[in-house]
Amino acid sequence: MLAELGQEAKLLAGGQSLIPLMKLRFANPSHLVDLNFVPGTSYVKEENGALRFGPLTRHAEIEASPTAAKIPIIHDCAAGIADVQVRNRGTIGGSLAEADPSGDWATVLMTLKAEVRCQSAKAERRMRLADFIKDAYTNALTHDELISEVAVKIPAGGSGGAYLAFKRSAPVYPTASAAVQITMDGEVCKDVAIALGCVGLTAIKAKNAEAALRGQRVTEKTIAAAVLAARAAAEPQSDMRGSVDYKRTLVGSLVKRGIDIAMRRARGEQVEVSHVYA
Ligand SMILES: Cc1cc2nc3c(=O)[nH]c(=O)nc-3n(C[C@H](O)[C@H](O)[C@H](O)COP(=O)(O)OP(=O)(O)OC[C@H]3O[C@@H](n4cnc5c(N)ncnc54)[C@H](O)[C@@H]3O)c2cc1C
Repeated sequence: MLAELGQEAKLLAGGQSLIPLMKLRFANPSHLVDLNFVPGTSYVKEENGALRFGPLTRHAEIEASPTAAKIPIIHDCAAGIADVQVRNRGTIGGSLAEADPSGDWATVLMTLKAEVRCQSAKAERRMRLADFIKDAYTNALTHDELISEVAVKIPAGGSGGAYLAFKRSAPVYPTASAAVQITMDGEVCKDVAIALGCVGLTAIKAKNAEAALRGQRVTEKTIAAAVLAARAAAEPQSDMRGSVDYKRTLVGSLVKRGIDIAMRRARGEQVEVSHVYA
């Protein structure tokens, strides 16, 4: 139908981004192609060492899924998005397609080996999330393609992750957020991925912060170096949620907490994560 209806047609998933935009007349599609009645598009499956999410899987289904909880940072993300109403309707596919700089999924999935599968009537393409999100509100899909699946490799043993956001209240997007995924070998950080959310046009991979920890013993000193590098990597805008300095400070403290929880989880500790509310 997308191929038939042309450029001006839009897919409708949970409607939690598209419908508000249509109400504001920022989006004015000629046709809506409703995915909600397409069977077999909502699932969480484990297969060949990866978790696979159907495009129409709601945030709430992921929050409640014991399979998704095998990657705890994924549960942190799903459980922290907005409020119950939004989580009951909004989908992982819609969130990634929207590429909202304040959206939670891209920040979290950037710290994992995540692949977006894109389907048109003619072919399937698979791409890394970093290649799928091109810019703020811009993805790599052509007009006749849709996200058909999101696949995430289950991290190796000795890994742990945490996602934390700072919010004024549940139904608003975060002021800043940080995702940390770490693999430990005893006291040494074997590998780490750190992504920052809401402080740039897309989620930002804090590469210098990762380098401060990778291959090192995780001590107060190396954590402080990672925090400093994460603050420097942020590119926040001053707005009603806070000034540039305020957001940089926030990012630093979220990364610090994230490292602590990720390490504890990597050691096998069960740690509950909740976002921080102003
Ligand atoms: C009050 C409120 C608070 C919110 N707070 C947060 C928050 O804190 N964190 C957060 O991450 N999000 C938040 N959201 C957004 C929410 O997570 C949405 O679910 C998400 O952005 C879009 O998903 P959707 O399924 O509703 O997509 P829709 O609104 O239906 O679609 C969004 C866009 O994606 C396209 N699309 C949908 N599905 C596909 C697909 N399979 N393939 C290709 N394109 C597709 C549509 O054409 C459209 O352009 C909030 C929304 C509201 C209303």
